[in-house]
Amino acid sequence: MFEMRSDGESHMDKFIYLDNAATTRTSPAVVEAMLPFFSEYYGNASGIYSIGVKSKEAISESREIIATTLGAKPEEIYFTAGGSESDNWALKATSEVFAAGGLPNRGNKGAGDDSLPVRNHIITTKIEHHAILHTCEYLQKQGIEVTYVNVDENGLVNLKELERAIRPETFLISVMFANNEVGTIQPIREIGEIAKKHGILFHTDAVQAYGHLPIHVEELHIDMLSASAHKLNGPKGVGFLYIRRNLRISSFIHGGAQERKRRAGTENVPGIVGFGQAAKDAFETMEKRSAYETELRDYLIARILKEIPYSRLNGHRTKRLSNNANFSFQFVEGESLLIMLDMEGICGSSGSACTSGSLDPSHVLLSLGLPEDLAHGSLRLTLSAETTREEIDVTVETIKKIVERLRSMSPQYEDFCRHM
Ligand SMILES: *Cc1c(COP(=O)(O)O)cnc(C)c1O
Repeated sequence: MFEMRSDGESHMDKFIYLDNAATTRTSPAVVEAMLPFFSEYYGNASGIYSIGVKSKEAISESREIIATTLGAKPEEIYFTAGGSESDNWALKATSEVFAAGGLPNRGNKGAGDDSLPVRNHIITTKIEHHAILHTCEYLQKQGIEVTYVNVDENGLVNLKELERAIRPETFLISVMFANNEVGTIQPIREIGEIAKKHGILFHTDAVQAYGHLPIHVEELHIDMLSASAHKLNGPKGVGFLYIRRNLRISSFIHGGAQERKRRAGTENVPGIVGFGQAAKDAFETMEKRSAYETELRDYLIARILKEIPYSRLNGHRTKRLSNNANFSFQFVEGESLLIMLDMEGICGSSGSACTSGSLDPSHVLLSLGLPEDLAHGSLRLTLSAETTREEIDVTVETIKKIVERLRSMSPQYEDFCRHM
């Protein structure tokens, strides 16, 4: 769709890349925008000499671009080293401020003051990314209480259960904007309204959504939002946390005065510039790109479900990211399917990149209520604007062949056919 495939004889052209939820190709326009900030304008952004000023201006420009995309103010955008860091910051720093044992200015005014409850409770969901789930587990060891709300069979958060989970001690609700494995988009506005009504902070891990869906932090009542550049054709290792102004949250990295003293460290200028360019491009092309991806996604889904028996689509049929398709094939091991696809030059995933390589079934698919064997036999294919219909056709034909082959070797399948 976009002319991004310019690497000529590169062997990568032979691959069909369908793992864009894990990471995306850094676009040539982004690389071009970043390059001068490595060896030409390499000055420290805090310096007063002119090449430093150039870095400083470039950072400001990226911050402005990103703020505009969210309906936020530039001073509400804090650059980090990626989505995981932003998620860690949002959860750990608010816990520190609100929970007992935190900073002196914490919600309860200190020992002996019974007029205000200790606020030490977080509500999140069972299908969050590990950057949230493992941070919650860590915080639980520090005495924070966490409720993990259920989702329905399509991956949608149960809003009634979420509201019922609220206690006087709850200080934070953290629900992802869209799920990285099955692509389900959550009712973020409703969740924001619930949080606001109860005077609770609302954080959303929007790493999969930012650059792919329109987001307005005011309209959606979002207090904190995590995003990462490499999920929208930007570079790896740079992200941001949106923090609503006047929100009490402690600094994450202590050191220099960068990022309004909240996240110290010499700025990753090329990365931040690349993120700004990626955000600009993503928002300019969003409508066209998502229409293109949705059509291709639906074509892929329709063909797989029609042409491969005992296959199912995981996640919501329509409330899903435009580039996400996630399937389960009965009697097929996801890992074997992936390995055989890789041998044919097709890159897919069995779920989150963090769990592939381990034999645990996906926590997301189990939460959707899939039995273990189906949660093991899943295949996630995530498209991009560069994906072509021919690539989808080749992929479908290849999956058909492989699934047939794997089933022909499966004793369970043989058994199943015999009893039909
Ligand atoms: C990729 C991803 C992250 C982690 O982002 P990094 O920049 O790789 O640290 C967090 N949450 C979700 C939903 C993701 O998809």
